[in-house]
Amino acid sequence: FQSKLPTVATSIFSVMSGLAYQENAINLSQGFPDFESDKNLIDLVNNAMLTGKNQYAPMPGIFSLRRSIAEKMENLYSVSYSPETEITITAGATQAIFTIIAATIKKDDEVLIFKPAYDSYEPTIELFGGKTIAVQLNPEDFKIDWQLVKSLITEKTKMLIINTPHNPSGRILTKEDMLQLEAILKDTNILLLSDEVYEHIIFDGEEHQSALLFPGLKERTFITASFGKTFHNTGWKVGYCLAPKELMVEFRKVHQFNVFSVNHPTQVALAEYLKTPSNYLELGNFYQQKRDLFLNLIKDSRFEFIPSKGTYFQLLNFRNITIESDYDFAIRLTKEQKIASIPISVFNENNLDTKVLRFCFAKKDETLKKAAEILCNI
Ligand code: PMP
Ligand code: GLN
Repeated sequence: FQSKLPTVATSIFSVMSGLAYQENAINLSQGFPDFESDKNLIDLVNNAMLTGKNQYAPMPGIFSLRRSIAEKMENLYSVSYSPETEITITAGATQAIFTIIAATIKKDDEVLIFKPAYDSYEPTIELFGGKTIAVQLNPEDFKIDWQLVKSLITEKTKMLIINTPHNPSGRILTKEDMLQLEAILKDTNILLLSDEVYEHIIFDGEEHQSALLFPGLKERTFITASFGKTFHNTGWKVGYCLAPKELMVEFRKVHQFNVFSVNHPTQVALAEYLKTPSNYLELGNFYQQKRDLFLNLIKDSRFEFIPSKGTYFQLLNFRNITIESDYDFAIRLTKEQKIASIPISVFNENNLDTKVLRFCFAKKDETLKKAAEILCNI
C-alpha cells in the first residue's frame, strides 16, 4: 500500500496533549480553554435536545443559525451574506478548510501559504494533488513580504491562504497588508481562503481586518470561523464558511458528501446565543486580561516575548535558556517541569528551529499562576 501522505505524522496537538495527560502536566499546548462554556448556552443545547432537535439538520445548516450569522456580519462589518446561498455551517473550521480545498484544488494547482501555518492546510492541499508554495514569515515580527508574494504568483496559482489573527504567532494583518493583497489579486482568478477563527480575540484596541471588508477580496474569498474558539466549546466542533454564491455552490457539492450536515442541537442553541452581541464582543477584553496576567507573571523569567496581538497564544523565546531544539525542549519541559507547550518548528518551513514555544493562555487564572511559577524557575 502506498500512503497518500507519506511524510505526514500525528498532529503535534495530539502528541503534546497526549504527553501532558500522561505526565500529569499543566497543558498549555493544544488550544482549548480549561474553563466551561457559558451555562446559558449549555442550557440552550439541553433544551434543544429535550425538544426533539435530534435528527439530521438541513445540509447547509439550520436556517435560523445562518440568519443569525448573516445579521452578525451585517452589524459588525456592514456586509451582506445571504443565509440561503452564501453561508454553510460546518463541523468546525477544520472541516470547512478541508471542504474548501477539496472543492477547489486539483492536481498541480499551486496554493500559497504563510509559515508557520496551522497544520491542516498543507496535508489537505497535498491530498488533492495541489502543490504548497510556502512563504516563511520573518521569525521575529512575522510580517509578510508582499513583494516576495507577488514574485511567487504563477499561472498555476489557484489559491492563497491567510490567517488573521495568526496562529501560532499572535500577529494580526493590518489594513495596509489587506490592501496590498487586494492589489496583488486584482485582475487574477486566484481564490482566497481567509482563516478568521480568532476574529473576536484581538487586543489593544486593534480592529480585525476581515477579508470581507475589501471588495476586491470578498468576491473571491472563503472565510472560515469557529464557534469553538468564540464560545469556549472546542469539543462541539461547530463553525461556518462564508463565500459568494458561485463559490458556495461548489463548497456544498463537497460538504454534502463530506459530512452531509452538522450536529443539530448545538446549532439551535448557537442560533439563539448569537443574537446577543456581547456574547462575542467581550471576548477580546476577556482574553486580553488573561494575556496581561500571564505576561506580567513571567516578566522576570528568562523567556523573551513580544505580547500577542490576537488569538489565545503567546510565543516565548527561550534562546537565553538552552540550545536544545524547540521540540526537545518542549518534551523535556512536559516531562521534567510538568508544563506542556507547542514547539513551533513543526509549523515552520523545513522545520526551521527558531527557539520559540507556543503557550495557550485560554486558562483559568489559577492555572496561569501555576504555569508562570514553573516558567519563572526555568
Ligand atoms: N484554523 C486555525 C488557525 C486554528 O487555530 C484552528 C484550531 N483551533 C482551526 C482552524 C480549527 O478550528 P476548529 O476547532 O473549529 O476545527
Ligand atoms: N487549533 C488548535 C491549536 O492550535 C488545535 C486544533 C487541533 O487540535 N487540531 O492548538
